[in-house]
Amino acid sequence: MPALTKQAPGPGFTLQEVPIPAVGKSDVLIRILKSGVCGTDVHIYSWDEWAANRIRPPLVIGHEFMGMVEKVGDAVDAFRPGDLVSGEGHIACGTCYFCRTGQAHICREVRIIGVDRDGCFARYMTLPQSNVWKLKPGIPHDVAAIFDPYGNAMHTVMAQPVAGRTVAIIGAGAIGLMACKIAVAAGALTVVAVEPTPHKRSLALACGVHAVYDPTIPGWQEQFLKHTPDCVGADVVLEMSGSPSGIRNAFELVRPGGDVALLGIPSADIGLNLSRAIIFKAVTVRGINGRLMFQTWYQCERFLLDHKLDLSPLITHRFPYHAFREAFDVLRNGEAVKVILDWE
Ligand SMILES: [Zn+2]
Ligand SMILES: [Zn+2]
Repeated sequence: MPALTKQAPGPGFTLQEVPIPAVGKSDVLIRILKSGVCGTDVHIYSWDEWAANRIRPPLVIGHEFMGMVEKVGDAVDAFRPGDLVSGEGHIACGTCYFCRTGQAHICREVRIIGVDRDGCFARYMTLPQSNVWKLKPGIPHDVAAIFDPYGNAMHTVMAQPVAGRTVAIIGAGAIGLMACKIAVAAGALTVVAVEPTPHKRSLALACGVHAVYDPTIPGWQEQFLKHTPDCVGADVVLEMSGSPSGIRNAFELVRPGGDVALLGIPSADIGLNLSRAIIFKAVTVRGINGRLMFQTWYQCERFLLDHKLDLSPLITHRFPYHAFREAFDVLRNGEAVKVILDWE
């Protein structure tokens, strides 16, 4: 089968023929129809410091997908060939302290598809049946392929109450934009986005936010405060940029007593004045990792089907899998928001 692989340490991927993976007794063999390209894949493609430390080639890349069940193992009872599915790419061990206390999303032995084991940038992939998610009719295939980042956005928004509150979202990339839509649909009174790239600010407005700010323009924070009662700051700030300035802005924008959820991942230690940013402000801070298994998945499904959440405007580019270099080019030059690779 064709697969996009990292064959050896260094930049780039190789499109090559590899064997179809063996199907264990609890495994589902999925014929991949569409996959999403993520910032993580770009890190692996570019072979930055994180990738060099984490990835052990040879490896099939990719963790965002949807497809059709091709074959199931003997012990699989929940799926049949022909089912349309997506899946949770974090494979939890099921036996560690966290798995046994309902926190499989922070499993100590987690193995991530396309990072720790072969992923979905291939014609076929196997996944344990407990990680496979059956798709309900009415969910567009392109959107089904990006349940993983959509779940990150959902988990971040749902980590604290947002209904009736002022929510600031820092970073309007794919996940930030999904969070904008979710926060509006979940009943936030005011949602504002902070994003330096003009076309992403336009998309944020199209996602229903009430105002957008360019953090490179002096005075934007004072303008932002006018959106909050008595100019006290946002009740909730969702940090999705991972940049040091974005994280510092999060603690500037949040009101005393408010909530900050951190999803963006800074690449190095950052300086933060804890007493001013958090302690004296009595701010509640949450780190967000992955998606809740599988509460977040049910929420994602219901927002699509019951709230008619439309994520399709965020999918800016589609390529056949063999044009993967173009897909990575438009992501690396900032032109794209979400890119889908088509495996059909
Ligand atoms: Zn991803
Ligand atoms: Zn575990």
